[in-house]
Amino acid sequence: MTAGTTKWRLLILGGTAEARALAAAVTARPDVWVVSSLAGRVADPRLPVGEVRIGGFGGATGLARWLTEQRIDAVVDATHPYAARMRVSGIDAAATAGVPHLRLERPGWTAQPGDRWHRVPDLPAAVAALPALGRRVLLTTGRQSLGAFTPLTDLWFLARVVDAPDGPLPAHVRLLRSRGPYTVDGETALIREHRIDVVVTKDSGGALTEAKLTAARHLGLPVLMVDRPTPARPPATVTTVDDAVRWLDRHLQAG
Ligand code: NAP
Repeated sequence: MTAGTTKWRLLILGGTAEARALAAAVTARPDVWVVSSLAGRVADPRLPVGEVRIGGFGGATGLARWLTEQRIDAVVDATHPYAARMRVSGIDAAATAGVPHLRLERPGWTAQPGDRWHRVPDLPAAVAALPALGRRVLLTTGRQSLGAFTPLTDLWFLARVVDAPDGPLPAHVRLLRSRGPYTVDGETALIREHRIDVVVTKDSGGALTEAKLTAARHLGLPVLMVDRPTPARPPATVTTVDDAVRWLDRHLQAG
């Protein structure tokens, strides 16, 4: 807590809808000062309410130093389920700085009757499995993943990205710049328009990008789902913003 004030100091590692919802829930409180951190990868990010800082910290060492300098009382890592480096960095930095740490991570998606999902552990496995599933691909695994698909020169890709990629691209690709949220009608029309016969996705979870799965189910299409990276040391984790607020109440009052 800051000397001479009653405000606890919270860092939210952000870049997700959950991080923005937590910032909104906590910013209004008179007993907490909150700063949200973004990586700075997206040109025009959706900003949370309240104070925001942008850019990397310089690994776990840099973040630990920052936590100490900023006299942070608690860290909630609400980064995307696939932001694996930041997750490890947050755990290590909080341990070094002696600051309570919580992971806020939305659950993954669950298959329903009619789904034709093929789960693979990572991008190389997705590249290996894809040719057996289809020829015209809706690729939604993000800008940084596109280079992995360059060996698949016989396939056509509709690659949906937030920002334009700057790395290598598959030989036959059309880029679609958009950010969602998406509707089932919109996703169905997109799949039909481009004669898509397979969808590739991360298991991001959440409602904002789920419509492609419903559309694929209705159309009988296979979905190639790249599983979440499994942390070597799973941190204390909650799946809802309400549970994160309850954790904060417990830790800040105990501190
Ligand atoms: P990553 O590979 O885990 O992180 C790479 C580096 O980016 C980190 O080591 C860190 O740099 C910096 N970084 C990441 N998140 C940061 C944050 N919230 N604040 C400050 N620095 C951050 O992460 P990524 O997969 O590139 O994702 C980057 C951001 O985009 C994350 O905030 C994530 O929530 C968001 N996002 C990612 C995905 C995805 O599919 N990966 C999807 C949607 C949103 P330093 O080591 O220098 O500190």
